[in-house]
Amino acid sequence: MIVTRFAPSPTGYLHLGHAFSAFNAWRRARAAGGRFLLRLEDIDPGRFRPEYGAAIQRDLDWLGLNWDEPIRVQSQHLKEYQTVLDGLAERGLVYSCFCTRADIAREIAASAGAPHGPDGAALYPGTCRSLASSERAERIAAGARFALRLDMQAALRSAPSYRALSYDEEGEGCIACRPERFGDVVLARKDAPASYHLCVTHDDAVQGVTLVSRGADLKPATDLHRLLQDLMGWPPPRYAHHRLLTDTAGRRLAKRDKAVTLDALRAEGVSARAIIEQFE
Ligand code: GLU
Repeated sequence: MIVTRFAPSPTGYLHLGHAFSAFNAWRRARAAGGRFLLRLEDIDPGRFRPEYGAAIQRDLDWLGLNWDEPIRVQSQHLKEYQTVLDGLAERGLVYSCFCTRADIAREIAASAGAPHGPDGAALYPGTCRSLASSERAERIAAGARFALRLDMQAALRSAPSYRALSYDEEGEGCIACRPERFGDVVLARKDAPASYHLCVTHDDAVQGVTLVSRGADLKPATDLHRLLQDLMGWPPPRYAHHRLLTDTAGRRLAKRDKAVTLDALRAEGVSARAIIEQFE
């Protein structure tokens, strides 16, 4: 059975781009008699507001994009993410990182030709990777805050199918993955118990998602998601990354574009049917 999901972060009101994303996932599931799930990715304590979670449900309801219960709310599953992190730590695949943004920027500025990740930002230079365990323990005992980073090289060595890591993208076929481009990514932040990459792959597995339908902006991250799935023994879903809606100037729609929130469109008298029709 096909299982898809819509997984917004409740950090603002849904706009047309979200509606398009939800519609794609909903349509794929409903056309095949499958399940369409809703997941609220609310693990970023600084940006999440409960009223946005409620607004998401109201907007989907209004659009007629009915989901199958239960809704998964990530903040209610922090213990599960911690268990995954503990497992990776036991296998020596994550390490504590005490660096501040300023520390990292300094290191990168000092090292000419630092490698860059898929988003164009310089990769973490690995400063804390080689800290002695006694030093780590001392810093933690002294109350230093830390993030957990994946030791990418160790992870690649221990991933069962690293050399053949790939995913099935609808319309494109098999795409080879190069997760090493991400370097030592953060899997738990200093201020958030688990990162997007960890939670999204964990939850897709737990919810039995078979087709990840989402925006093309997340396509590069799939390389990393496949590595995490491989390390954890989670079954790989198929992927269908859809185009991103843009405004008249060709810019991608964003939460800051208040005019295209579903709330604003509804207030202007635009009907749900008119919105869905333009996606069909
Ligand atoms: N929560 C993510 C976002 O709102 C989407 C996650 C996903 O579809 O993989 O951008």
